[in-house]
Amino acid sequence: MHSHYDVIVIGSGAAGGVLAHDLQQAGASCLLLEAGKHYTKETFPRSELEYSPQLFWGGGLEFDSSGKMAFLRARCVGGTTNVNQCLLDRFDDLAWADWQRDSGVPFFNTATMAPHYEAIESRLSLQTIAPEQFNHNTRLFIEGCDKHGFGWAPLRRGQSDCALDQGNDCIGCLGGCHRDSKQSTLVGFIQPALRAGLSIQAGFEVGQVEPIADGVRVQGLVDGRKVSVTGRKVVLAAGALGSTKILLQSGFGKHLPALGQHFSSHPQFMSFGRFADTIDAHKGAFQGVKSQDAHFRAAGFKLENVFGPPISIAMLYPRLGGAHQRFMQHYRQLACIEVAIRDEAIGRLQLDRKGRLRIHKPLTLQDLRRRDQGLSTVQQMFWSLGAEEVFSSDFYFGLHLMGGCRMGSDPREAVVGPDFKVHGQPHLYVADSALFPNAPGINPALSIMALAQRLGQQLTGADA
Ligand SMILES: Cc1cc2nc3c(=O)[nH]c(=O)nc-3n(C[C@H](O)[C@H](O)[C@H](O)COP(=O)(O)OP(=O)(O)OC[C@H]3O[C@@H](n4cnc5c(N)ncnc54)[C@H](O)[C@@H]3O)c2cc1C
Repeated sequence: MHSHYDVIVIGSGAAGGVLAHDLQQAGASCLLLEAGKHYTKETFPRSELEYSPQLFWGGGLEFDSSGKMAFLRARCVGGTTNVNQCLLDRFDDLAWADWQRDSGVPFFNTATMAPHYEAIESRLSLQTIAPEQFNHNTRLFIEGCDKHGFGWAPLRRGQSDCALDQGNDCIGCLGGCHRDSKQSTLVGFIQPALRAGLSIQAGFEVGQVEPIADGVRVQGLVDGRKVSVTGRKVVLAAGALGSTKILLQSGFGKHLPALGQHFSSHPQFMSFGRFADTIDAHKGAFQGVKSQDAHFRAAGFKLENVFGPPISIAMLYPRLGGAHQRFMQHYRQLACIEVAIRDEAIGRLQLDRKGRLRIHKPLTLQDLRRRDQGLSTVQQMFWSLGAEEVFSSDFYFGLHLMGGCRMGSDPREAVVGPDFKVHGQPHLYVADSALFPNAPGINPALSIMALAQRLGQQLTGADA
C-alpha cells in the first residue's frame, strides 16, 4: 500500500465494488479500503453458526434503540452483496419522481438513469427463476395470490449457475456463494479489477476523513495500528450506517444539519403458515416470486416469497421452552411470506457519548398501517391455503439501509450535492445507499450500482 492515490474508495459493497472497478479500468490509481476480511468461494464459512459472526457487523445483528428492529449488513470484501439475495430490480417512475421531489436533483428520472442501469446489467448474468425451479413454498405463494386475485411475478436474480437441478440449495449463499454464481460485486467487479491490478486493503477500518490541501486524509486502524493514507479524491461507500458514522466521527455534523437524518430501511415482517404437509421451504431456489400488484404498490407494501436457515427462523418465534421446541420440530412444514413496507424516512443515526452508533428507527402511523395491511393480506392467503397455524414474528428486520447522508441541492436539507460531493467539500464524495433521499419501496442494490457507475463516469471524465 502506497500512501497517496488519485482516488480512495472506502467500502467495497454494491457502490464501492462497482466504483473501484470502473476507476481501475479507466487507469486511475485507486485504492479500495474495506474493514472486513477478503473471503473467496473457497473460504466463505460453511454454516449459519459460523457465517453470522464472521461476515456481519455487530457479530450478526445490530438493533435500533427500541431493541425491536434488527439490521443486517456485511463486513467483508464485496460487502452486503455477498450475503444478499441478489434480486436486481430497476426503480419505477414513482420512485424516481418521489426522489426528485424530495431532493431537487434533476437526473433522478427513468430516462437519465437508463444507460447507467444498462451498463451494470451488461456486466452481470441475470436470470429469472424458472417455473420448474419453484419450490413448494413458492408454489403456495402463487396459489395464494391466484386465489385472491393478487398480481405476482417471478424474481430476477443475479446468478450464473446455481446448479439447482443437481440439488443445490441456494439458501446457503446467504453466507456467501460457494460457486461464484451469485453476482455479488466481489464476483462481478472486484475479482476482475484485482486481476487487472486494483489495489485493495482489507481489514482497514476507517475512523475519520480530514480535508487537506488538494485532497483528503483517511485515518483508520489495521490490526489495531493507526494508519493514514491520502487521496486527491476520497469516496465514502461504506453503506448508510458506515458512511454516516465516518462523517459524524469526522465532525461534519457541525456544518451539515441533515447528517444522520432521513434514515429508512424497508422494514420487513415475516409471517409463517404451518401446514400438515412437508413444505421444505429451505430447498432449491428458496425465493422464486414476489407480489407484483399495483394496489400493493399504491398502498406502500410488497410481499416476497422467502425463508431462512434454522437459527434465523428460531429467532423469529415469539415463544420459549416447549412451545419453541415444538415449533422448530415443524421447520419442514413451515411456509413463509414476508411483508416489506415503503417506510417514511424519519430514522436518525447519531453517536453516543462513547462514540458508538445509535440507530433510532421508530415506525410512523403510516408505516404501521402499511404493515397491518400487508400482514392481514398474508394471513388471508395462508388460511385460505389450509394452514393449521398462522403467526407473525414480533421481531422485524431492516435489510435495506438507506439515508443518513441524503442527496439534495440544498445544504440545509441534504449532505451530498447532485455532483455526489459532500456539500462544501471539493474532494470528498458519497456513493452508497447513504445518499438515498427516501425509501423507494424497491430492492435497492441495482440502483446503488447504477448511481456508482454514474459517479465513476464523472470522476474519470467519461461523462464529458
Ligand atoms: C440478507 C439480505 C438480503 C438482501 N437482499 C437484497 C436483494 O435481493 N436485492 C437488493 O437490491 N438488496 C438486497 N439487500 C440489500 C443490499 O445488499 C444493500 O442495500 C446493498 O448491498 C448496500 O450497498 P452499499 O454499497 O450501500 O453498502 P454495503 O454493500 O453494505 O457495503 C458497505 C461496505 O463498507 C464496509 N465498511 C463499513 N464501514 C467501514 C469503515 N469504517 N471502514 C472500511 N470499510 C467499511 C462494509 O464492511 C461493507 O463491506 C439485502 C440485504 C441483506 C442483509
